[in-house]
Order: sequence, then structure tokens, then C-alpha cells
Amino acid sequence: MSERPRIDLFSDTQTRPSRAMREAMANAEVGDEQLNEDPTVRELCAMVADLLGKEAALFLPSGTMCNEVAYRAHTRPGDEIILHETSHAVHYEAGGPAALAGVTLRTLPGEKGMFTPDQVRAALRSGAPHTQYSRLVSVENTTNAGGGAVWDVGALDAVAAVAHENGLSTHMDGARLMNAVVASGRPAADFARGYDSAWIDMSKGLGAPVGGVLAGSREFMAEALRFKHQFGGAMRQAGIIAAAGIYALEHNVGRLAEDHANARRFARLIAQVDGIDVDADAVETNMVFFDVSRTGFGAPEVAARLLAQGVRIGAVSDRRMRAVTHLDVDAAGVEEAARALARIAETG
Ligand SMILES: *Cc1c(COP(=O)(O)O)cnc(C)c1O
Repeated sequence: MSERPRIDLFSDTQTRPSRAMREAMANAEVGDEQLNEDPTVRELCAMVADLLGKEAALFLPSGTMCNEVAYRAHTRPGDEIILHETSHAVHYEAGGPAALAGVTLRTLPGEKGMFTPDQVRAALRSGAPHTQYSRLVSVENTTNAGGGAVWDVGALDAVAAVAHENGLSTHMDGARLMNAVVASGRPAADFARGYDSAWIDMSKGLGAPVGGVLAGSREFMAEALRFKHQFGGAMRQAGIIAAAGIYALEHNVGRLAEDHANARRFARLIAQVDGIDVDADAVETNMVFFDVSRTGFGAPEVAARLLAQGVRIGAVSDRRMRAVTHLDVDAAGVEEAARALARIAETG
């Protein structure tokens, strides 16, 4: 796109580093990250390991690489990962689990991108020679395609317990774990405690330009480090980008509450628009999914008309759209987006 939309609710990946964040980046002390000699990267990893209650952490160029490195380290080719059918790793990682780890995916249905311990138990393979090994259970928190929903800590513990009782490992895709933390008031380490590996994305609502941090036991992270190198994720003077992550953890966590309030505000406003179907009470964090089919327009058409008014919201299917709030959109912005949507619905 040549011109930037005035109000960009396409994703919380659309945040731009602030002036203060850029200053922190410019002033970062750096070293050779590949040799573990970058002090800023080391500081960020120590912060995230502490935050997630793990022994060690690894800085990677993306959240996708956090999933893929973890999957590769937890499994062997031919193994199976149990995860939700709407997971990012199932749909948006270009077949990475198959291509990089050589695993099969056992996908589970369930409300809001979540599943139950009983579903995990029922999905376990028998261990007979003609079946693949069930090796890993992977959850998302918050769930992305599940609506930005926050897992209950007890439910996460119960899923992890079934996995561990049966010799499986556990992984948490915490791309938006800090949204779950702010929405629930529970510490990140509580959510992650049953999970052998967990990561947070610095480049979503936290507002940094690049990177994810994967955490786990010292032993697991040593294994993960091999695959970081193998996948080409080892960097050089990466303190430049890690500094943005440190800045984000120090300044941009508490303010996620504003994004959640703006998402609720947007959902309540569009709930009043004739032709828009949205469950405003289901909005827990920074995502609003809504159905536009009763406007008479398909979702891609509504997206195009919004864009013509300077508002970007993504179509996720023929009928449904997803709006994501973040630090570069304020309350006035979501109100204007809702008005633009109302104007389109009126003409449909
Ligand atoms: C964005 C996202 C990822 C991938 O993170 P990138 O930093 O974009 O590679 C993985 N999982 C979930 C749930 C996400 O939303």
C-alpha cells in the first residue's frame, strides 16, 4: 500500500516505534549476539525468562521462529503436535511444522481457540508401532483466531497435566501473553507455569519493531539454540532491536489496558449499527471479530470501502472482519472507524 491508512486496525503489528523507543535503540550497547556477547540482548532475555518464570530465554527474529524453533526442539520427525485447529502455527507459518520439524499436526476444535484436557486425552496416540508419537501439546494465549480470548490459568494447568502425565511436552504461543496478563491481572509466570516453553512477541501490541523471546529450562534452551542457528536466526549487533523490546517491557505493558478499552468501545459502537453482528461482551483483549453479511456487502468489499475512508480493517472470511487495537490508535480513532463502518452499512 502506498498511502498509510489514517486509522489502522488491521493488526497490532502495525505499531511504529515511538521516538523514545528509537532513542533507546540508538543508545543500545551492542556486541556479537551470535557469540552471546550482546549485553542488551542478554538483558532482554533475562527479563523475559524472569517474567515467564523460566531459567533461560533466547531472542529470535520473529514469533514464528519462536514457535518453529520450539517445535523442532521438542519433537523428532514423524512425531505429532496436538493444538487448536485455528492456531497460528496451523495456518500462518507456511507449513513450518511440516517443513522444519517434520511433524504431523493433530488439530482440535473448541470455543474461542481453546480445548479441554479430555480432548487432549482423546487425541493421544496409542504408542503402537504403526502410529506416530504424540509428543507436544501447544496452546495459544491469548488466542488469536479464537477472538483474543484469555485462557483460565486452571484450564491451562489441567491441559498441561494431561500432557505431562502421558510423557508429552508443552508449549505456549504467547504472542499476546502480555494482553492476557493485563486483562486478567495474573502474572505471566502463572499462565506459563505448566508449559515447558513459552514466548512473547515484542512486535505486536508491545510496539517494538522486531523480535520474539522464547523461554524454557536451561537444557531446553541449549537445544533451541542449535535450531536458532540452523534456521538462520542467530544475529550480530541485535542489541539495536533488543533495546526496543526492553523499552516495550518497561513502558508499554500497562497501557495495553487502553487497547482493551478501545476494543470494547469499538465493539459497543458497531453493535448499534444495523447490519453488523458482533458479540461485544466477548471482547476480552484487543481484538474485535464481527460479521458484516447483513449489510449486503461481503467482508472484502467492506474492507475496501473502509480503506477509501482511511480506515484499515482486515477481512478474515467472506463475512467476517477482525479489528485489532494498539498503541497507535486512540479512542477518537476507534470512534471514527465505527462511524465509517456505520456509513458503509447504511448504504448497503
Ligand atoms: C503474530 C503471531 C505469531 C507470529 O509472530 P510473528 O512475530 O508475526 O512471526 C504467532 N502466533 C500468534 C498467535 C500470533 O498472533
